[in-house]
Amino acid sequence: MLENFNARVLLDPNEVPKEWINILPDLPSPITPLINPMDGKPAPPELAFAIFPKECVLQEVSQDNTISIPKELREIYATTYRPTPLHRAVRLEKMLGINDGRIKIFFKNESVSPTGSHKPNTALAQAYYAGIQGIEELVTETGAGQWGSALSYGCNIYGLKCTVYMVRASFIQKPGRKILMRAYNAAIHASPSKHTDAGRTFYDINPDHPGSLGIAISEAVEHSLRSDKIRYSLGSVVNFVLLHQTIIGQETKVQLKKIGLEPDILIGCMGGGSNFGGFAIPFVKDKLQGKCPDLEIIGVEPRACPSVCKGEYRWDFGDTAKKAPILKMYTLGHTFIPSPIHAGGLRYHGMAPIISILSNNNIISTSMLHQTEIIEAGLKFAQTEGILPAPETAHAVKEAINQALKAKENNEKKVIVFNFSGHGFFDLLAYKEFMSGKLEDYELPKEDIKKALASPDMPIIDENQF
Ligand SMILES: *Cc1c(COP(=O)(O)O)cnc(C)c1O
Repeated sequence: MLENFNARVLLDPNEVPKEWINILPDLPSPITPLINPMDGKPAPPELAFAIFPKECVLQEVSQDNTISIPKELREIYATTYRPTPLHRAVRLEKMLGINDGRIKIFFKNESVSPTGSHKPNTALAQAYYAGIQGIEELVTETGAGQWGSALSYGCNIYGLKCTVYMVRASFIQKPGRKILMRAYNAAIHASPSKHTDAGRTFYDINPDHPGSLGIAISEAVEHSLRSDKIRYSLGSVVNFVLLHQTIIGQETKVQLKKIGLEPDILIGCMGGGSNFGGFAIPFVKDKLQGKCPDLEIIGVEPRACPSVCKGEYRWDFGDTAKKAPILKMYTLGHTFIPSPIHAGGLRYHGMAPIISILSNNNIISTSMLHQTEIIEAGLKFAQTEGILPAPETAHAVKEAINQALKAKENNEKKVIVFNFSGHGFFDLLAYKEFMSGKLEDYELPKEDIKKALASPDMPIIDENQF
């Protein structure tokens, strides 16, 4: 019986997309520039070129509809892990009692990459561009360790040195990620560290400071400005990272087409917005062009760090030490230090400007979930589909389950597709705590958000200047 022969849709290596999809020219309101934190003015190209690989800076502001993927890079994707499979979650459907085919759940499996998440998609691209420019070292920050391992992997492929500032809470919680990064020859520092001025202001007061992504970003940016042979690398938030991730959504589109389906609901978890953006943008483009007005696109956040759901759309620093560019985005305030939830990759105070614009214009919607409910959903997923999701990814799993059950209740027909951003093999502690009844929920109190956003430290940018 091959009734479920469409349950795993594979593409050939030569079907790796030839171009990235750029959403900037289609946005309902224009993208805002990156602002230099030193003077409150749009960052001059020279400054951006000193921080990021040159090609990435050009992509950040490009108004081209598509940007071609260099042949050498496509070859790396195709000879390593792309295209990734699209699976129908048949056993999950069965468990939910929706296996009559009216409601279908699919997931795009980005966990098959060498480091277990979508992040190598951009890590490889950034290392490639740095390499052809003659850059010798990339430096970055990492929260949960996913981005650090992806960049370590990318740099190792292209023979670049890689330095990673890792949020101390994760450095202690996730020794596995540290070892993986070292396996790829990277140098790792727990952040806040004593290696940078930005780190020392926290380290000297408390050497056990748990750190935050914001502090680690400050350290990495400072480190990158030390030499012209070093550049800073970002794993999320900025336009060019979302651009690189659009291979996910493009492949998904082709895969759904192969089995004659169109999605009704797309779901992804949101930290800085890159896996969700990369998954959704090719479909968002269609929606903005009126091709699929009813398509629902849902980004899911943790209740402990609900940047879009509970934050404000305004200018804010990208990092705590106010060294990174100022962005217009949904934010909880750069002074906000989130509770140490296990979905470390979702603990960022802001959201990608592209996603912020899409949300502010109601092109996409958002939801929030608690830590225990998503881990519980992650276990259900492992018990049915076999893959233990990363806690970040478990947010998308839980939302997909919620949407499926809602459709069942309303007796609707739905094709639900979510992005499976990564596996949780390095996040077993979250599952262990859940199993022993120790996992706690954190809800970010309204007063805390109000306080962070009322800080006199929040930047005020004159929008009449551009
Ligand atoms: C980093 C990470 C995320 C969150 O980052 P985005 O930029 O929002 O995608 C989500 N899932 C996994 C598995 C991650 O590693």
